Amino acid sequence: MANDASTVFDVVILGGGSGGYAAALRAAQLGLSVALVEKGELGGTCLHRGCIPTKALLHAAEIADETKEAAEFGVLATFQGIDINGVHKYKDDVIAGLYKGLQGLVASRKVTFIQGEGKLSSQTSVDVNGQRIEGRHIVLATGSVPKSLPGLTIDGDRVISSDHALKLDRIPKSAVILGGGVIGVEFASVWKSFGVEVTIVEALPHLVPLEDENSSKLLERAFRKRGIKFELKARFSGVEYTETGVRVSTENGKQIDADLLLVAIGRGPVSAGLGYEENGVAMDRGYVLVDEYMRTNVPTISAVGDLAPTLQLAHVGFAEGILVAERLAGLKPVPIDYDGVPRVTYSNPEVASVGISEAKAVELYGKEKVVTLKYNLAGNGKSKILKTAGEIKLVQVKDGAVVGVHMVGARMGEQVGEAQLIYNWEALPAEVAQLIHAHPTQSEALGEAHLALAGKPLHAHD
Ligand SMILES: Cc1cc2nc3c(=O)[nH]c(=O)nc-3n(C[C@H](O)[C@H](O)[C@H](O)COP(=O)(O)OP(=O)(O)OC[C@H]3O[C@@H](n4cnc5c(N)ncnc54)[C@H](O)[C@@H]3O)c2cc1C
Repeated sequence: MANDASTVFDVVILGGGSGGYAAALRAAQLGLSVALVEKGELGGTCLHRGCIPTKALLHAAEIADETKEAAEFGVLATFQGIDINGVHKYKDDVIAGLYKGLQGLVASRKVTFIQGEGKLSSQTSVDVNGQRIEGRHIVLATGSVPKSLPGLTIDGDRVISSDHALKLDRIPKSAVILGGGVIGVEFASVWKSFGVEVTIVEALPHLVPLEDENSSKLLERAFRKRGIKFELKARFSGVEYTETGVRVSTENGKQIDADLLLVAIGRGPVSAGLGYEENGVAMDRGYVLVDEYMRTNVPTISAVGDLAPTLQLAHVGFAEGILVAERLAGLKPVPIDYDGVPRVTYSNPEVASVGISEAKAVELYGKEKVVTLKYNLAGNGKSKILKTAGEIKLVQVKDGAVVGVHMVGARMGEQVGEAQLIYNWEALPAEVAQLIHAHPTQSEALGEAHLALAGKPLHAHD
């Protein structure tokens, strides 16, 4: 439907990534008229430059590792190398299929999709392609882009961001990755499997520093075993070009030479020059400030996804978009419990968690009220079959509910669904222990951990 001057949409959404398109789909489903403005590709970062392409690369990496290790399973296979064009074709096919599906979905819900760069022009309108699109409500969902440091120029060739890394047409011999968070760790994992010498430089004391320290240590142990190098408590001080690549220096005097530097120090909000502040929207360092219902200080304007200072995850964007749509349609959605959002780092091994860390639990409840239990995957049949190592760590409030589940090991991301039910339904260990888990599965390890926490361990020592 072409917009004409007389059309006032119920909702105008600026940005068609995870947050924006989820808001659009749910609002349309609830009978609201919706315009969705997107300057790039529907699906945004997650589909085109984030979750999906990285997970495709990680899967290709897993196949490479399995081929190399095939003999350990009695399978004769020879690893001949990585055909990077073939990897990209596989990844791009996955994206293309999902992109087509998403475009079809948006069209089928009768969302008015407007291709173009939009700008907030008043508290109830967005300007795009020289046209003013009016809405009773506006949802800001312009997302985020890779960040850099002052003086560190991303040239897209030797100093790259995750956007470039996903399209790299060559496999470097060596790489330094600045940042040991989720994105840095996932690329380190892929590249090592592809034969790259990888060094991660992280300023904080641990990799994946937002996770429970036990998970970080287990990942570090696994990475050490895989030959992925990392420098912790190492602050980046500079990068210079060498004849063939880069030399990265840290404040503690280390110098690391590599073919390229991947800057993975986080992502910053896309809000500059988009008319937000001019129209009275309260901001903090480029983020749009929201309350627990994703309302800004302007009654007609909401914000969702990476643009808001909440967890930068696609499924958080979905949830926030849905919440806003339901609120605008007059339903009574409940605020999101961000601790209850599952978090997965899809490296080899995977790190998955939900709820709070032991440190946070001690802070909240006091040391004497916090109980923890670690279940080693060595006792889990399916994990043994997969030859993966790792642990499930539970954090419980004494005589109360499980408030944290922290898992490390192959495929642990697939177990976080059950872990999230445990946390979000405030399950007691004895209640989970009562549930029968299929044998042999990795989900059984979660069951066993709760059996042990409930005082009746089966495949674990008392
Ligand atoms: C390498 C990488 C891996 C990731 N892996 C995962 C993962 O495994 N799981 C997970 O949950 N999350 C992952 N994420 C995070 C996830 O991609 C983001 O949290 C999610 O995409 C945020 O959605 P969003 O809608 O807020 O923003 P975005 O997806 O960034 O979408 C914003 C959209 O707004 C558009 N836009 C911006 N300005 C304008 C304008 N002026 N006019 C019109 N359109 C505009 C942009 O083109 C973009 O399409 C990953 C991110 C990266 C970078």
